[in-house]
Amino acid sequence: MGKLDGRVVLVTGAARGQGEQEARLFAQEGARVVVADVLDEPGEAVAKEIGARYVHLDVGREDDWQAALAVVRETYGRIDGLVNNAGILRFNSLLDTPLDEFMEVVRVNQVGCFLGIRTVGREMAQGGTIVNTASYTGLTGMAAVGAYAASKHAILGLTRVAALELARRGIRVNAVCPGAVDTPMSRPAAAGGAGGEEAARAIEGFYRRLVPLGRMGRAEEVARLALFLSCEDSSYITGQPFVIDGGWLAGVSVV
Ligand code: NAD
Repeated sequence: MGKLDGRVVLVTGAARGQGEQEARLFAQEGARVVVADVLDEPGEAVAKEIGARYVHLDVGREDDWQAALAVVRETYGRIDGLVNNAGILRFNSLLDTPLDEFMEVVRVNQVGCFLGIRTVGREMAQGGTIVNTASYTGLTGMAAVGAYAASKHAILGLTRVAALELARRGIRVNAVCPGAVDTPMSRPAAAGGAGGEEAARAIEGFYRRLVPLGRMGRAEEVARLALFLSCEDSSYITGQPFVIDGGWLAGVSVV
């Protein structure tokens, strides 16, 4: 028996990275998965491979959420789970951040999460689960990612309020807070960005020194945490942030 047998779960930002691994693992565990993203070609390919349905969904757009919900209703007739995973990262000091850049990060990360909770929360008549993707930077500061950190702190606020408001409807809401996870977001070079292999090696060396467990996390490891929070194993847990960061947030080592 799978841990998600018979459940319908929508994962945003599921064309690659952590969302892709969540969609794959959830399908393996018996869920009927809806893969949602703005990257249509890779999103459709993932969906096809795992027997899921793909929907184009820009999480910051209210009308896209309504259209996605219509597809879910038509295809499955219900929804039991949501993973708000889609997110974007921009590097800039606060003093240099243009308002447009700040607002775009908020639109995708924070508004996207709010719209997901509201759209799917209203639809879950028989209870369900919502997992929001915050970050290590939702719990502490990090220079050069001010807009991102602000949006991830906000996601934890949304998670707590949603948990309080939706508990009586049988909906549990939790958040995952990943540290550095090996995906195209944390390794733009792997996604064709600047720096190539040299940049990739520098990033690895950096995290070897910085993270107590000596490496970046794997998207599959975050997927397993999202699975735990989406299935009966976590039946008495709601409103909480779960850090998955190889010990990074534990403190500073002086030896
Ligand atoms: P990624 O860039 O590989 O994947 C993000 C996915 O979100 C992509 O498929 C992208 O197309 C999609 N996306 C972007 N904007 C979207 C939008 N407006 N609507 C719908 N989809 C959109 O990154 P990832 O590392 O897999 O990130 C997944 C989540 O984990 C993000 O919320 C990110 O902030 C968070 N996170 C990542 C790390 C890390 O180190 N990789 C650490 C902490 C938190």
